Amino acid sequence: MKKTGHKMHPETHMTSLGYDPFLSEGAVKSPIFQTSTFAFKSAAEGKAFFELAYGLRDPKNGEQLGLIYSRLNNPNLQILEERLAVWDGADDCAVFESGMAAISTALLEFLKPGDLFLFGNPVYGGTSYFINHILTQFGVHIINFTADNTKNEIIDMVNKTGKHDKLKAVYIETPGNPTNAMIDIAMTKEISEHFSTEENNIPLMVDNTFLGPVFQHPMQHGADLVVYSATKYIGGHSDIIAGVVSGKAEFMARIKGLRTFLGNMASPWTSWLLMRSLETLKIRMEKQSFNAQKIAEHLVGHPKIERVSYLGLLEEGTRQKEIFDKQCVGSGGMLSFYIKGGEKEAFKFIDSLVIPKVAVSLGSTESLVEHPATMTHAEIPYEEKQYLGITENLVRLSVGVENHEDLIWDIEQALDKI
Ligand SMILES: *Cc1c(COP(=O)(O)O)cnc(C)c1O
Repeated sequence: MKKTGHKMHPETHMTSLGYDPFLSEGAVKSPIFQTSTFAFKSAAEGKAFFELAYGLRDPKNGEQLGLIYSRLNNPNLQILEERLAVWDGADDCAVFESGMAAISTALLEFLKPGDLFLFGNPVYGGTSYFINHILTQFGVHIINFTADNTKNEIIDMVNKTGKHDKLKAVYIETPGNPTNAMIDIAMTKEISEHFSTEENNIPLMVDNTFLGPVFQHPMQHGADLVVYSATKYIGGHSDIIAGVVSGKAEFMARIKGLRTFLGNMASPWTSWLLMRSLETLKIRMEKQSFNAQKIAEHLVGHPKIERVSYLGLLEEGTRQKEIFDKQCVGSGGMLSFYIKGGEKEAFKFIDSLVIPKVAVSLGSTESLVEHPATMTHAEIPYEEKQYLGITENLVRLSVGVENHEDLIWDIEQALDKI
């Protein structure tokens, strides 16, 4: 795109930013750079590229890191990262072969043996396992809070560990899965600032998979890093596994450094598919959110439904609604509801649906339905599940881009079968 003074919206950038057709025979779409390594024009050029890659000297004016080797950089990966960074207003972005690769690499970079890690509970099952069973094996101390805790309560909890000066990272996922409970991002940033010092700038990381990058922009509310399972909305077609970290330059440089040596960057093919997906990201998410709102409204007050949990139906005057209005610009496509009865009724409903597939994962063009208590959240102890509202009659629906009247018809006929 030619340079103009006009500030474009992110969706306008998704078809062209970072790609010059005339470097690729005029191809309107970026080719797949399916190559492991890149030829240098001369030995001196190779030397200059390596000096920058290893930080052996500062770049001379305008000098950029050239292409070296696809574990370090590749055109598909670089174009994709430039486009993704736009959505979050981030300085830089790193794409990985899975959401878990993104999350685990970021956490390993900031946490060393003896450090303290503070996180909001619940988090995604894989993230929870990594924190509770793997970080702790490396001698990292962990402490968690929930959406119900106030700022002062959380600060007290950290102080009581006696390790507050060792706090090195703060992590939240909002809205939470599968109940849509939200955590105040700005409040959490105040907590990380409370414990930060000149030498220890504690990053706040936000898993933005459920609403981002279209309906929630954590960096505008103080987050330093935003993480995604790009397998979900960003990929959006249930055909790739990928992950993203975007954020402030000082933290991104460290994460990209570790990624180079763990070697878990996304491949050219995954990157190319994600570039394809980004072009429709906004219209997909808007349609999914529109459909979810229609379904949620239909389910409220239905004789077979006990309660509906959807961000587009939050009650005025509640703390959750206040957080939503402050940090979200749309309700998204994730909906959960409590069917009257227990597992038997929930299963009957799920098995009677004809449009949604019964599968975990979310954010794709097709609707997916699952039973959190026995599937995605099966390993959580019974009491904790009750506390989090993950009961046997809870059904989670990831709403796709199908016609909303067809989806409502399907849900209605499935409820009739109970
Ligand atoms: C799926 C998911 C992850 C993990 O991502 P993968 O791509 O499966 O590795 C992390 N966080 C959330 C909120 C998720 O839904």
